[in-house]
Amino acid sequence: MPRFDYPCPGCRTTNSLHDADCRFEGTQWPEVEKAYIDVVSLLSVGPRREEALPELVHGEWDNLHVAAVESLKRQQRVVEEDGALRLLTASEYKELVSEPTSEPMRTLYLKGSVPGCHDNAVFAMVAWYEMVGLSWAETKEHVVDWLRESGAWDRGGFEEASPEQLVDSKRHVYEAGYGWKEKATAAKRVIDRSL
Ligand SMILES: [Zn+2]
Repeated sequence: MPRFDYPCPGCRTTNSLHDADCRFEGTQWPEVEKAYIDVVSLLSVGPRREEALPELVHGEWDNLHVAAVESLKRQQRVVEEDGALRLLTASEYKELVSEPTSEPMRTLYLKGSVPGCHDNAVFAMVAWYEMVGLSWAETKEHVVDWLRESGAWDRGGFEEASPEQLVDSKRHVYEAGYGWKEKATAAKRVIDRSL
């Protein structure tokens, strides 16, 4: 079972300190977690129509619940099938997210890094796999494979002696749970220019 943090649907924080402009500012993290758990526990029984969720939930259904559903859809934890929401199993989800399908991650994933953006690209890949819930060992395996199979490693420009060593040097990114978007966007720009 992958680890699943419950980020604030407004600002993605996983503690009670929200961004200044977050619409859920002042909401304590246990409340955020409860909204997700309400939704996930309903869907773990079986697919449900989205409109049916408010009456099925134990207790109150509020904006936080609505936002949690949106967040689960965005993260592809939940898919819409035949008019109902279905929670992916842990293994389906892992398989799905192991191959990023949306930009800018798709470009990084398919084309690999190039000299001039290695730092950002590897950072983004590590942060991506952390975000989707892979363990550190799984993250390392995926990023090492990606470095080799995308041709990135063969393009050179790395200080480290091996892909394994390089990925190990980015473990702090995984530990800190940094976002991937900014670094991935910057890396994609460089990749698009050179490939
Ligand atoms: Zn927030």
